[in-house]
Amino acid sequence: MEFKVEIGPQFEGERVRKDDLYIEFGGPKVRSKGELVTVREMDEIEHDKITILGPDIPDLEEGGSYQIGTLVEVAGAELDKDMEPVFERKIHIYSNYIEGFMHLGQRNDIWMRVSKDAVKKGLTTLKEVGKVLSYLYTSELPIIEKVAITYITDPQKLEEFISTCLAVYKERDERVRGMTEESVDEFYGCTLCQSFAPTHVCIITPERIGLCGAISWFDGRAASRIDPLGPFFPVEKGELLDENLVVYSGVNDVVDERSMGESSVYSLHSIFENPHTSCGCFEGIAFYIPEVDGIGILSRNFNGESVIGVPFSTMAGELSGGKQIEGYLGIGIEYLRSPKFLQAEGGLRRIVWMPREIKERVKDDIPEDIFDKIATEEDAKDIDALIEFLNRVEHPVMSGEFA
Ligand code: SF4
Repeated sequence: MEFKVEIGPQFEGERVRKDDLYIEFGGPKVRSKGELVTVREMDEIEHDKITILGPDIPDLEEGGSYQIGTLVEVAGAELDKDMEPVFERKIHIYSNYIEGFMHLGQRNDIWMRVSKDAVKKGLTTLKEVGKVLSYLYTSELPIIEKVAITYITDPQKLEEFISTCLAVYKERDERVRGMTEESVDEFYGCTLCQSFAPTHVCIITPERIGLCGAISWFDGRAASRIDPLGPFFPVEKGELLDENLVVYSGVNDVVDERSMGESSVYSLHSIFENPHTSCGCFEGIAFYIPEVDGIGILSRNFNGESVIGVPFSTMAGELSGGKQIEGYLGIGIEYLRSPKFLQAEGGLRRIVWMPREIKERVKDDIPEDIFDKIATEEDAKDIDALIEFLNRVEHPVMSGEFA
């Protein structure tokens, strides 16, 4: 099959910077964005059909940022719904195979950029992007027999699509809640982000979702079965070496091997001692604030500066790349709901600041006695205001509970 630009894994990791940007979809400047893969019956979709609902690249202004939804419908005799999140993550990989096209993020937090060079070569319509995706889905994953792709830019249709997406994401996340690390024999690993962060290894447990927030333990299991030679793989837990930090011998062995020796000990639930590495597509960041001995949370969707005066992009730049950095941790937001969330440091009781939107999102999982003691951007915009707030509400960090 012929395409206007080249495709292949050699373009993974390629960035489209501001100076070379022709147009972008999603990203921090737009509110509505999302992507979803849905399994259909064989007779429900027309193979290779690419549809654009709303304005396409030629209808939009160069240099602009536009909202977008991507729906990938797949069909095949052996497909089941459990595989949807795994196929959904492939949107990220396959899009990044396209020369001059960049895809970041997942779910309703995506960011796509088309470069000027790619447009010059003929990548002038989203149909061309869909054509590549359609080709890769069926050629790389023979289990998929048919694929149809729809890009939605029409504002009204997009709102409907996004609410469907949010309901599906919620259902997926709820499925794994209640399971524990002790109740399973295997965890799953993912090295999909090694194209951007070569030594990064995600360890996914029932109580620790992948940093992108898109891969749960169930998804890791399904992915490793669909494609045993792919980036997802089972991880034998081995012996529990440290109950507080949650260090398993089997996890250490796998991380050592897959990170090429960069990390040899992983604490699954600590931000300080041998913390999990961070790639670049994490949904949020947990960061230590020494002035109050507490932990802050920042999310990719938060546009302002954090309470320490640094925006997400700056902090993410320092943290990403696959290194273990004490005091910083890329996280999936769902991890905040985990009973083991940073248990070595006191869990949610150690949180002192987070964006209002995140606090509302995980409200039901924050203990009642601490909820009002966690500041948001509305309570504290800098460290002085944070100290004043935490003293006033008598946050546990101020009484030396964690000293
Ligand atoms: S963040 Fe982790 S789980 Fe998600 S795609 Fe990257 S390596 Fe895989």
